[in-house]
Amino acid sequence: MINEKMEKAFNEQINAEFYSEYLYLSMKAYFASLNLNGFVNWFTVQVQEEHAHGMGMFDYVIERGGKVELEAIAKPEITWESPIAAFEQVVRHEEYVTSRINALMDVADEVKDRAALTFLNWYLKEQVEEESSVGNVLATLKLIDDDKHALLMLDRELAARTFVQPVIG
Ligand code: MG
Repeated sequence: MINEKMEKAFNEQINAEFYSEYLYLSMKAYFASLNLNGFVNWFTVQVQEEHAHGMGMFDYVIERGGKVELEAIAKPEITWESPIAAFEQVVRHEEYVTSRINALMDVADEVKDRAALTFLNWYLKEQVEEESSVGNVLATLKLIDDDKHALLMLDRELAARTFVQPVIG
């Protein structure tokens, strides 16, 4: 049976993962309004990944005999000043999520839940990848600056991203 404090922390993180899904869905709409369809595809995959992250914890809480309690998902921003501004927020958001996963592991440590620590290791590794991939897109956008041709080349590259259902835990 899962510890009550651990259960509460997982429930808060389930909400944070679904908020990430919502934020990226909003960014997908923003990039669609710019007709950057490769970016739209990139966010489609990002949304699917965040959904999988939330569901991984959802299933885990139930597997551990805990109770999932869904909360309201906050309204995300609906527009950004530029693609760079959007990706600056993506990078900040992923750094914030990493700090949240670390805090969740602190709770697991505190209540001596080693199974949860092992489970959360997957999320920690995933965050290293997330920070690296979104950081790369931001760095490329900064290099591109206002070169439209280069932006379209990046858009074409991002069109190739595909979703692979993660095996969590
Ligand atoms: Mg996530």
